[in-house]
Amino acid sequence: MEKSVDALYEKQNIDDESLKLLIDADDAEYLQEKARTVRRKYYGSAVYTRGLIEFTNYCKNNCFYCGLRADNKNLQRYRLTKEDILLCCTKGYELGFRTFVLQGGEDMTYSDDEICDIVHEIKSRFTDCAVTLSVGERSFETYKAYREAGTDRYLLRHETADEAHYKKLHPESMSLTNRKRCLFDLKKLGYQVGSGFMVGSPYQTADDLVSDLRFLQKLQPDMIGIGPFLPHSDTPFRDEEKGSLKRCLNLIAILRLMFPYALIPATTALGTIHPMGREMGLKAGANVVMPNLSPTGVRELYSLYDNKICTGEEAAECRECLARRVRSAGFELVTDKGDVKRNLTDIDTRGGK
Ligand code: SAH
Ligand code: SF4
Repeated sequence: MEKSVDALYEKQNIDDESLKLLIDADDAEYLQEKARTVRRKYYGSAVYTRGLIEFTNYCKNNCFYCGLRADNKNLQRYRLTKEDILLCCTKGYELGFRTFVLQGGEDMTYSDDEICDIVHEIKSRFTDCAVTLSVGERSFETYKAYREAGTDRYLLRHETADEAHYKKLHPESMSLTNRKRCLFDLKKLGYQVGSGFMVGSPYQTADDLVSDLRFLQKLQPDMIGIGPFLPHSDTPFRDEEKGSLKRCLNLIAILRLMFPYALIPATTALGTIHPMGREMGLKAGANVVMPNLSPTGVRELYSLYDNKICTGEEAAECRECLARRVRSAGFELVTDKGDVKRNLTDIDTRGGK
């Protein structure tokens, strides 16, 4: 195993069989140690923070895993107005957030012009901030309009890179081909692009995970978000097993070694599967946290999966709690836009080595 880790460290690549062994490794101390070394080389001790604004829980899609799916009639739906969103940003800015992530279901009620207007307003009021959108699959023209309005980044997980597996997670109306088209369009338009996948989604095999890593090598995304699949009681996957913490942590470390420059979040799903999940994620090589800036009144309603954490706290409490957790893991939460560092000339040395 140490040999595979060393090879991955040296060449950012190893063969499929060795990857599978690392994905399921029981003793991952060496793997994680190497991942931390790489992460420190590129990002020092800095952990970047993104203020997540979940602005709508309406969605036209029906992904089998997700609680926001259109067919879930047990969910009270909400939309935030432009003013609500700007209030979240104002509060977030005061707390030290320099990136705002606007995430939602595929809610066609907001026109392209409305989204562009919201992005433009945030960018003009908070000139030293980045805006990230995460609103699913759209046309090239729509992505182009968002980009021209000032959007810096876009998050769209590919979810699974295997065609047959994709079909088991999504209805007929959705396709992996379109998902990939979206991701390459976003790259073409000059976004910093985030992709990723759930770990332990139903029917996922170790081979699928290797396909996911291979797909990411083709895409070369700036951000890579992974987290465990967690069942939601109002979805067809209500009785499925949740993802494995071990696999998540091994994969974070593998991703760090394969993509040394990448921004990798310790996700809320990881914090939901284990009380110390996010700290473990940081120690395995993650360097981003995404606390919630949504108004507390709607947090429960953005229910992708059951038992989501941090639905009760105010934004300030969330930030303080995370700053504490980050420190306890040996890193430092910084006030920074947190752009990707593709080469070692921009390395971050804050917090020492
Ligand atoms: N509608 C947008 C953004 C919201 S969903 C989109 O689909 O891209 C954001 C992410 O939540 C998804 O990419 C998915 O990977 C994750 N997610 C959804 N349901 C989940 C579940 N049951 N367990 C874990 N993650 C889930
Ligand atoms: Fe909608 Fe995204 Fe959930 Fe799919 S994962 S149902 S697109 S919110």
